[in-house]
Amino acid sequence: DKKVVLITGCSSGIGLSLAVRLASDPNKEYKVYATMRNLAKKERLLECVKGLHRDTMDILQMDVTGQQSILDARDRVVEKRVDILVCNAGVGLMGPLEAQSLDSMRQILDVNLLGTIQTIQAFLPGMKAQGQGRILVTGSTGGLHGLPFNELYCASKFAVEGACESMAVLLQHFNIHVSLIECGPVNTDFLVNLQKAELGDSSLKQVDPHTLSLYEKYLQHCGSVFQNAAQDTEEIVKVFLDAIQSPCPAFRYFTSGDIPPLTKLKITEPDGLTYIGAMSKIIFSDEEQ
Ligand code: NAD
Repeated sequence: DKKVVLITGCSSGIGLSLAVRLASDPNKEYKVYATMRNLAKKERLLECVKGLHRDTMDILQMDVTGQQSILDARDRVVEKRVDILVCNAGVGLMGPLEAQSLDSMRQILDVNLLGTIQTIQAFLPGMKAQGQGRILVTGSTGGLHGLPFNELYCASKFAVEGACESMAVLLQHFNIHVSLIECGPVNTDFLVNLQKAELGDSSLKQVDPHTLSLYEKYLQHCGSVFQNAAQDTEEIVKVFLDAIQSPCPAFRYFTSGDIPPLTKLKITEPDGLTYIGAMSKIIFSDEEQ
């Protein structure tokens, strides 16, 4: 029997690549439900999968912020079970904190945090009844250490860590494995799709000049990190496959292979100041500390 996989956020990026890889598996081991908020965006996925998906992929509408939408997608799974749930949908929000509206802050928590949790809630009873399951979540190094001008994004991803770790402790009693795939920068539409304050925006008019000059530096840093150090989605997909194929998957996978040095500082230097100093130096190096 094929393993039934349901993935959120498949219209682009990591979700799309993972759906394509699993749906075109040479051994046809998987039946993929590639879900997306807006079905009008399904062409890219269909082009990438190049017709190799006849019995291995269905595309379903699913907005992770809508409970009914999640339940409707679940009810359209023909096999009436999901073996592997991949919570991948997510958005970014970048800019000086004092310029962010309550609405945009709520929105990112809604998608990244409550969206992930609501999705898991909907599939949990089925997995418990089946006596087995895998829950994979696209995590971020920004869920393990803070990043300036990304307070809400990091808050949402830190919160996902807490929710997943809490679940993992319980769910091992049900033969359900939870794994976080921790990504650094990845070449996707993420930077295009995220809500970002641009330097000339009216929302930044009230922000003080020192913050704005640091923000400008941050944006340059971010641009060069994505240009020089971003991984391709294929590399991320390999790590997902490792987790999926492992008989006893780890709770946390780092897509760079090992725990990144900055993330490690958080564990080795628990007072936090070493991390804060190191990150500040990397981003704002020519600013007096
Ligand atoms: P992306 O923008 O290409 O993909 C995100 C997907 O989520 C999009 O297809 C988008 O339509 C979908 N989405 C947004 N809101 C949704 C909703 N309400 N319901 C359903 N789908 C929704 O970017 P990506 O890099 O592929 O992002 C995938 C995941 O990876 C996200 O959770 C992101 O936080 C995480 N991540 C990305 C990076 C990176 O550098 N790209 C780094 C670390 C973690």
